[in-house]
Amino acid sequence: MTMIADNLHRVQARISAACAQAGRSPDAVALLAVSKTFGPEDVAQAHAAGQVAFGENYIQEAVEKITLLAHLPLEWHCIGPIQSNKTRLVATHFDWAHTVDRLKIAQRLSEQRPAEIPALNVCIQVNIDGGATKAGVAPEEALALAQQIAGLPRLRLRGLMCIPEPAPDFVAACAVFIRARNLFDALNAQGLALDTLSMGMSADLEAAVQSGSTQVRVGTAIFGGRSYLAGT
Ligand SMILES: *Cc1c(COP(=O)(O)O)cnc(C)c1O
Repeated sequence: MTMIADNLHRVQARISAACAQAGRSPDAVALLAVSKTFGPEDVAQAHAAGQVAFGENYIQEAVEKITLLAHLPLEWHCIGPIQSNKTRLVATHFDWAHTVDRLKIAQRLSEQRPAEIPALNVCIQVNIDGGATKAGVAPEEALALAQQIAGLPRLRLRGLMCIPEPAPDFVAACAVFIRARNLFDALNAQGLALDTLSMGMSADLEAAVQSGSTQVRVGTAIFGGRSYLAGT
């Protein structure tokens, strides 16, 4: 078995154990394999081990990989910042965008989504722990943005995404993730049919699953340490 296959099985076992611990069904949480900075052969290895959904941060780098791997039935998620000048690439090449936090970006993605492919799945990125310079909409603005995005024809609003600062321990991590969960529930109570709460990474996926995550984004624990930072 390859190292990537072995790591994937370990991460799946962590997710299953966290689901059991939380009293959730083992298939309640999807695994997004974050392949940023890793090559197409690493993605192909993960796919050979059964992984279908991949997350990428750097749009240019991602588009190269997506093109090279077009023969495989993969699902691509954009989890990095989306500038206006990159919306067309995202709209054309990805299946999901997790990091939408402005109406203008959402509008461009909707306008630029090609008619012949399904609507782009979208999550709103929420600045759940209130970092002053952080990406993401403020929690109190999430409902208004969600209602606007829900009206865009070529987007399908699926849920919320957050990237909290690393927490000192499990309880502290849960306290932040639960705020995202409460916001997710509040939006659904307002009639938005959200099914995706994208939170949890290699170091904190157990706390995220305990708090209601439906999709964890895991890179290092699958592909190993990243040795360089790609540009956008
Ligand atoms: C890199 C990244 C991840 C994966 O992080 P790991 O700690 O390597 O698991 C998840 N989400 C986002 C937004 C990332 O940029």
